[in-house]
Amino acid sequence: MTEIPLEQHVAPGGERMTVRDLASCPPPERWHDWVEYDAKAWPRKVEKHYEIIPTICFNCEAACGLMAYVDKETGRVKKFEGNPYHPGSRGRNCAKGPATINQVNDPERILYPLKRAGKRGEGKWERVTWDEALDTFASKIRAAIVEDRRDEVMYHVGRPGHDGYMERVLGAWGVDGHNSHTNVCSSSARFGYQIWCGADRPSPDHANARFILLISAHLETGHYFNPQAQRIIEGKMKGAKLAVMDPRLSNTASMADYWLPTWPGSEAAVLLAMARIILVERLYNREYMRRWVNWQDYLAAEHPNEEQTFARFIELLIELYAEYTPAFAAKESGLTEESIEEIARQIGQAGTAFAAHTWRAATAGNLGGWQVARALWFLSVLTGSIGTPGGTAPNSWNKFVPAPFLKPGPSEVWNELLFPPEYPLANYEMSLLLPYFLKEGRGKLAAYFTRVYNPVWTNPDGTSWIEMLTNEEQVELHAALTPVWSETAWYADYVLPMGVSSERHDLMSQETHAARWIGYRQPVLRVYKERHGEAIQYTYEANPGEVWEEDEFWIELSWRIDPDGSLGIRKYFESPYRPGEKLGIEEYYRWIFEHSVPGLPEAADKEGLTPLDFMQKYGSFEIPREKAPVFTLNERELQPAELEGTSVDERSGKVTRNGTAVGVMIDGKAREGFPTVSRKLEFYSPTMKEWGWPEYATPGYIHSHVHRSAIDHERGEYLLIPTFRLPTLIHTRSGNAKWLYEISNANPVWLHPGDAERVGVETGDLLRVTTEIGYYVNRAWVTGGIRPGVVACSHHLGRWRLETGSGTDRWSSALVALGRESDGVWRMRQVEGIRPFESDDPDSARIFWREGGVHQNLTFPVHPDPISGMHCWHQKVRVEVARAEDRYGDVYVDTRKAHEVYQRWLEMTRPQVDRADGLRRPLWMIRPYRPTASAFQK
Ligand code: SF4
Repeated sequence: MTEIPLEQHVAPGGERMTVRDLASCPPPERWHDWVEYDAKAWPRKVEKHYEIIPTICFNCEAACGLMAYVDKETGRVKKFEGNPYHPGSRGRNCAKGPATINQVNDPERILYPLKRAGKRGEGKWERVTWDEALDTFASKIRAAIVEDRRDEVMYHVGRPGHDGYMERVLGAWGVDGHNSHTNVCSSSARFGYQIWCGADRPSPDHANARFILLISAHLETGHYFNPQAQRIIEGKMKGAKLAVMDPRLSNTASMADYWLPTWPGSEAAVLLAMARIILVERLYNREYMRRWVNWQDYLAAEHPNEEQTFARFIELLIELYAEYTPAFAAKESGLTEESIEEIARQIGQAGTAFAAHTWRAATAGNLGGWQVARALWFLSVLTGSIGTPGGTAPNSWNKFVPAPFLKPGPSEVWNELLFPPEYPLANYEMSLLLPYFLKEGRGKLAAYFTRVYNPVWTNPDGTSWIEMLTNEEQVELHAALTPVWSETAWYADYVLPMGVSSERHDLMSQETHAARWIGYRQPVLRVYKERHGEAIQYTYEANPGEVWEEDEFWIELSWRIDPDGSLGIRKYFESPYRPGEKLGIEEYYRWIFEHSVPGLPEAADKEGLTPLDFMQKYGSFEIPREKAPVFTLNERELQPAELEGTSVDERSGKVTRNGTAVGVMIDGKAREGFPTVSRKLEFYSPTMKEWGWPEYATPGYIHSHVHRSAIDHERGEYLLIPTFRLPTLIHTRSGNAKWLYEISNANPVWLHPGDAERVGVETGDLLRVTTEIGYYVNRAWVTGGIRPGVVACSHHLGRWRLETGSGTDRWSSALVALGRESDGVWRMRQVEGIRPFESDDPDSARIFWREGGVHQNLTFPVHPDPISGMHCWHQKVRVEVARAEDRYGDVYVDTRKAHEVYQRWLEMTRPQVDRADGLRRPLWMIRPYRPTASAFQK
């Protein structure tokens, strides 16, 4: 460290530096030696030299760019800032990006692999070697594969952090074992989109929109929220109007031109009323509808005796939605008729520049919530704004997942623990029902991995998860792969520490805007050391303690499952550059960058770099528009070679080859269309009809389980919204980030002043909130920012641990006593809230927050939507003043009642077990890990 007076300061390149140079973003040519003054040395001017290495944030799904500042004196990461060369985030991050440094330096982090030394959940741990953990799992998995128990190996992921890597691993093993958190998250919205267009997410071009409609707090905390938030504000600055449908006055709603505080679950009624106005007032895009909606299928199936013309279709459409008047929508939602009409007209006038988005929010809260996404997409279809500048595209048009070398074929297995017969249309795996399925004897797990996933805390009815995880007959071996302690890791056999953002490799791409890009998460200290001449074979050599990265874990595990290659697994984990030798993780990405990313080799070449060096240098790459167009891809004309061996169905215009649709004739030309059965936008879904739900063959409105008629305020009943996020926290993975907990450390129950008066509480008073299976005790927050009759509580807080000095991080968790009092009845009581503690970080002694929130999800039963499979999060609750015996943080739950609720919801399904075609699921529907077509047959 050198000390130089400011006036003499000269940058490494020789030029004099100004204060502005020091404050603005470092240019890449100086990343190898960036100089800043040491803030702690002030008022002296003490230089610090950094090497800047880009990576990708891992604190939500947005995959924003980060730049790690490696202190050249200590060889440690000093801080993280935004990477301006990242096409999605453009140098900007939310609070959670820079807080990565807290996670790196967390004194509570797990540094070595641990094995339980007592019973599961007893809290006794011993340090073991990675070899022991790997060999234990390898022999268990090998036995399951060899004995053809391929549905007994399960990988259950919370935050994937990569695109496609694990699907390749599971494919190589030949198991149907990919499980996800998606049906407690987004499978409902996905279903609504998929049933229309075959893609399961929206990708709005907010920056160029004239009108933006969000059914969520998407600007503030939604999916890909930081990159999209930038572009929503950009759109607004260019004159776009913003409407937000949300019962809560979220930060997002406070930025909107229109706040629409609908009664939760009524959103589809409002959207259909808007659709009707657009139709009646002829604001729809006639040509787009005529060309791209499967209206011929609708008429042929539902109105065979009517004139089969587009004009008649429109008339019938208006008749179909006749009941969705503004008055009806206003009655259902509590909005005014005028606001519904005004916004409908603005949407119609925005035309192809209408951008819309929904994700969790209403879709995740309500029975039939998928109809909300479907009704929203209906507005995009009516305006012809699908994949247009300023419109909303299917996500696959704005995302790029490059192919790896040697991709395994699909497995031959169908795992009914994941896709059971009751839910043939479930958008993702029925993961939230795993404890019930195992309890019913539908199967068992020989080897179970939870990966950055905390179902005990995150899922509804977490105590049923504890019961499952502590049952060694149901779950024989469980490893928690995690960068941080969690309530679920506590019940594992092995806790295997994995790297945080700057300690691992991943490749990511997200639909942040109208472009396609990839981002390269890289372990920055490994890169730093290699650049400075250190030979590193495995990333853990550069990580703290014995923290691994998952990519290398799966390579190593796969070699141990199949040491001689006889199972056909090992070959997928051999180097493409050194035949027969173990794959090095940089080789895996090097191959992708050299072969699978259009335009990258050329861009690298221009700078005299290899593609891998280019990605190491910049951390991301936007695929040139001419190599990856993003707008109106459905219009692409099929080339003669693509038409070889095809035939055309005269009525529908569908172009097929060997029975599979590959395109559609539109006005005499064969075009690519959408990945649906008809290759068109399916206003009419034959799938819904064929799979047991004819009444939902077209977009509609389903009464939610928390419809207004089900809530009696006079009896103290309210609708609880438990789904909203705080922009500063990360589900259950921010307990290791002290800055974030300093900002957000309580989740009180929001109540409208009128409701607070009725209940008899003021802000800060204790409330008891009673659900179908239990209750919790939390504080009230009285605010006009919530619509009357509805209460809300954020899902991020209320972390707990069972031992004083171990378990979930002490920055974020209360010490609790958790007991099972009689069969199935559980009680939790805080022994002590969050307290300062001694560690090598002096900030841990300065903790001032105390209560840390209440764990509400334990008191929720499962509510699986019978079609999408999504857990319907909203709860009908009774809200009352806390009783004398109640304490802050109390939780009471009866898992027997939870099982009864599960069975009630299961009865709502319509299993399709006796189908003539023998299919378990429509062949065209997405599965995250897709087995071979023959596995779809029973
Ligand atoms: S939006 Fe997500 S990825 Fe971006 S900085 Fe915040 S937490 Fe990280």
